[in-house]
Amino acid sequence: MFGLGVAKGLGITLKHFIETFVDDLKYFPKSLGNPEAFARRQGPSGRGLFTVEYPEVKLPPKENFRFLPFLITDFDVPKDSPEYDPEKAREQIRCTSCGICAKVCPPQCIWIVRTNDPKTGKPVPQPAAFYIDTDVCMNCGYCAEFCPFDAIKMDHDFELADYEREVGHIHDLQRLMKPVSYYAQIRPTFNAMEEAARRAAEEEKRRKEEEKKRRAAEKAAAKAAAAKAAAEKPAAEGKPKRSPEEIKAQREAMLAKKQAREAARAQAEGGQAEAAAPAPAEAPAQPDDLTKIEGIGPKINALLQNAGITTFAQLAATDVEKIQQILTEAGSRYQLADPGTWPQQAKLAAEGKWEELQKLQDSLKGGRRQDSE
Ligand code: SF4
Ligand code: SF4
Repeated sequence: MFGLGVAKGLGITLKHFIETFVDDLKYFPKSLGNPEAFARRQGPSGRGLFTVEYPEVKLPPKENFRFLPFLITDFDVPKDSPEYDPEKAREQIRCTSCGICAKVCPPQCIWIVRTNDPKTGKPVPQPAAFYIDTDVCMNCGYCAEFCPFDAIKMDHDFELADYEREVGHIHDLQRLMKPVSYYAQIRPTFNAMEEAARRAAEEEKRRKEEEKKRRAAEKAAAKAAAAKAAAEKPAAEGKPKRSPEEIKAQREAMLAKKQAREAARAQAEGGQAEAAAPAPAEAPAQPDDLTKIEGIGPKINALLQNAGITTFAQLAATDVEKIQQILTEAGSRYQLADPGTWPQQAKLAAEGKWEELQKLQDSLKGGRRQDSE
């Protein structure tokens, strides 16, 4: 029927409204914000109001809930504590100002100023300034995910309403820093996992260092033992230690022996070489001036020299026919030459019988016998 559904709905609302007041009376006067009342009302036995009366009552955020990033400092003193020291907190900040978070931030809302040592000018692994523009941050959590030092984490604090947005919404280093215990409180599971991983890494590092030290010690001990054994060896073998003078004398004696051996060897090798050396070849006979033979002029002399007849003795031993052949092969201009007396004249010349040669030549005419004309 028209209007009955509306009446039923309003009846349910009225019922919850009345039940809320009845329920509140059980926890009077602190029903509002009472965690027990809140837990019962949120459970299956709850009666009355289901909604949360924020800001008096707040639902605890889930561990994975993320809002703006914050920076972790190992100076574990809350900011509202009188013992909080901002400078110490900055000194113990985990951030090394590597800049990875600023690089991966999609809207580029992170701005880091690195620290330099005032004396050396070298970079110091600590941020001098760190800003996040919270109006630009889109709460993606990339910065926390990529930070290699677990230095930046996503916060649960979402109550950031402000009357002034130009400055208050840009969070600086001091505002971003929060103690590690705060992170452990808002993300206990993640913190425990990260701490376990960090402890394991430190344990592994310590183990490796100890192993390295142990190996170095073993190596040093082995070296020392070897040196000791080497030092004790002569004594163990019963050999007396020699003085430097004895060593020098022995070395000189060995050197002298060696030199004597080398000298003897060199001498032996020299004798053998002399014996093995071939006898010097006979010096080639000096060519004679064949023009002293009547009938031989400079050109025929050159012809004979070229044919290998260079001395009187060779000419004396050569047949007249052979000489004639040499002349014939040299051309028609030598056909008039008569070599008939050349071996005879050469024989006298070779034997040094110059007077007899002269007599013979006196009887010749152009090297020919008078009777042969
Ligand atoms: S990635 Fe981590 S250590 Fe590097 S600058 Fe960002 S917060 Fe610092
Ligand atoms: S949460 Fe995302 S947007 Fe915000 S600062 Fe980190 S990386 Fe940038």
